[in-house]
Amino acid sequence: MGLTSDSTGIKAIDCGPVIKKRAEDEKIVALAGNPNVGKSTLFNSLTGMKQHTGNWPGKTVASALGYCGYAGMSYVLVDIPGTYSLMAHSAEEEVARDFICFGGNDAVVIVCDATCLERNLNLVLQTLEITEKAVVCINLMDEAKKKKIFIDLDAVSEKLGVPVVGTTARKKKSADKLMESLNEVISLNEKKDRFHIRYAEYIENAVRILQPTLEDKIKERIDLRWLSLRLLDNDLSLTEALNKFLGYDILSDEDINKALTEARRTLSEAGIGTDKLRDEIVSGLVRAAEDICRETVRFEKTDYNSKDRKIDMILTSRLTGFPIMILLVMFVFWLTITAANYPSRLLSDALFWLQDVLTGAFRAVSAPDWLHGALVLGVYRVLAWVVAVMLPPMAIFFPLFTLLEDSGYLPRVAFNLDKYFKKSGSCGKQALTMCMGFGCNAAGVIGCRIIDSPRERLIATITNSFVPCNGRFPALIAIITMFFTGVFIMPFQSLFSAVLLTCVIILGVFMTLSISKLLSVTVLKGLPSSFTLELPSYRKPQIGRVLVRSIFDRTLFVLGRAAMVAAPAGLVIWMMANITIGDTTLLLHCSGFLDPFGRLLGMDGVILMAFILGFPANEIVIPIVIMTYMASGSITEPDNLSELKRLLTDNGWTWITAISTMLFSLMHWPCSTTCLTVRKETQSLKWTALAFLVPTLTGIIICFIFASIARLFS
Ligand code: GDP
Repeated sequence: MGLTSDSTGIKAIDCGPVIKKRAEDEKIVALAGNPNVGKSTLFNSLTGMKQHTGNWPGKTVASALGYCGYAGMSYVLVDIPGTYSLMAHSAEEEVARDFICFGGNDAVVIVCDATCLERNLNLVLQTLEITEKAVVCINLMDEAKKKKIFIDLDAVSEKLGVPVVGTTARKKKSADKLMESLNEVISLNEKKDRFHIRYAEYIENAVRILQPTLEDKIKERIDLRWLSLRLLDNDLSLTEALNKFLGYDILSDEDINKALTEARRTLSEAGIGTDKLRDEIVSGLVRAAEDICRETVRFEKTDYNSKDRKIDMILTSRLTGFPIMILLVMFVFWLTITAANYPSRLLSDALFWLQDVLTGAFRAVSAPDWLHGALVLGVYRVLAWVVAVMLPPMAIFFPLFTLLEDSGYLPRVAFNLDKYFKKSGSCGKQALTMCMGFGCNAAGVIGCRIIDSPRERLIATITNSFVPCNGRFPALIAIITMFFTGVFIMPFQSLFSAVLLTCVIILGVFMTLSISKLLSVTVLKGLPSSFTLELPSYRKPQIGRVLVRSIFDRTLFVLGRAAMVAAPAGLVIWMMANITIGDTTLLLHCSGFLDPFGRLLGMDGVILMAFILGFPANEIVIPIVIMTYMASGSITEPDNLSELKRLLTDNGWTWITAISTMLFSLMHWPCSTTCLTVRKETQSLKWTALAFLVPTLTGIIICFIFASIARLFS
């Protein structure tokens, strides 16, 4: 299996359509910046368009688009992926670079973090090498003030030769100055002299050899000094993008080729190979950023990050990092389980009351039985189940998760787990995608775009379903409560449930690491790449926004999608339970057929059948099991768990069945939405098949081993 950019989905992100949407008088403005500098917040505040903002590097992976106007000008703002550099190493950097270079934009706003301007200037300087139509927006000015960091904005502007404005993106007003400067830059007709880095003389000399030839051939379509540097640097991905932009292969031009060979010859005479040249260019950028900041930024406190560092000492230390992480996970689950109980019951009462009303209505119009059965007992009941079971825990879990994300804790989780993922031959950022998988595995798979190396991204994609998503939690919680914690009284019951659920999660993480290791020594061989994991400052989350965003962006989105697949699934299940062949239903025929295999795995045919029918949405697995056992031909909800337990034990469930079902719930095929997402992200059927087979085979093997051993000893 080859790792090509197509098969790994690098091409999945595309800014192309953006340009086609442009109206005559609209100006296109790219919003660039390092990850986590408040770019999305600024974008939202300027365009009024809602877009989720998170707190880890590389979150903004797709380009978002929004419209805004100021003083008679209309703008299309494009929020391009957050990147540290334009010397493309990753999909995000490629997208950002291509959009800035070839995206046909009228200006670029580069958003920087005021608390670490020097590092952010790297991207600013690289952008200024490409275009002078730029505004530098130094955001998080409030944070800088708190840390007693003072920036002389006018002095920075004078040095860079482009407007520089300070903003606090969370405050709406602060964007006015930015828009003013943008108008100014866009209206400017004559060329202004912007900052240019002077590299070592041999590099400047090589540029002098190449640039005139490019001038003849390419004219003003692109900054030629920058292009000369990139061609000397032998940046292959850029050359590919450039060829696409120009419509021909630039290196097929004899004159350019000759000049390039000559320029490279002078460099190699000076002892400069491609690697050394790139090092020199990067050091040039770093030095320039240092020089600018030395004269424009003043730190009143020497250790301005001391508070963050103190918190980090606790949250990421060897001794306390892990226990705190596990306790936090346990706390989140405990709160979710405890608080979801009551609303879940209320919701279920209300929805099943509505079912009676619907039944009454069907009777009143003398609708045929099969229609009532298919629509009310099939479609509606499954939907009601999914909503009642999923909505309350999600409405609690997602805001808690978003709070952890917004406060800056999740990158610390990645930091703590980095060592283990490295040992497994993968990347620490996988910890973040794994966390996203708790909410929804499809979201976790999309999140894998933050991983630069295609090999590591595939490992993260294939192993994402080893952590249970929200759709699987209710079944796990129900089984744990029925079989293992039912003897405790509240609130100890939910506490012990949370402890056991945490153990299941830890097993999921362990399996993720083990299978990642297995993949990295077999089909996805390779060494773990190194990456810079930025630990952003801790920020006080905006509670209101977290609530609104996590309910709308996540809870309702995931619920809507689950409902969309649950409705037709309900119809299919109802039909299978009501169509008879001989004197048994189709459902019983199928489960009977699967029974021997199910028993080998410690379960039975009904459970296995339920997992298969639950392919569209995991949350319907337990309802199908109940329905089949009750043979009532539709999904029912026994009112309490002890009644449910009796039903299960009457049908042969033991603690072995309970554990095997939990293990299989943790390790089986990803749901249909996740499979489709893997297909979309990897652009390959092969990898999708692997993402399906790896957890399935693992689950089968582990359940078989567990059931065999347990039977031997029980
Ligand atoms: P992006 O990754 O660059 O798109 O950054 P986001 O817009 O997602 O912002 C990251 C975090 O910084 C969020 O928690 C924002 O609420 C917060 N944030 C953004 N701008 C500011 C600001 O000017 N001041 C403060 N205090 N926080 C900000």
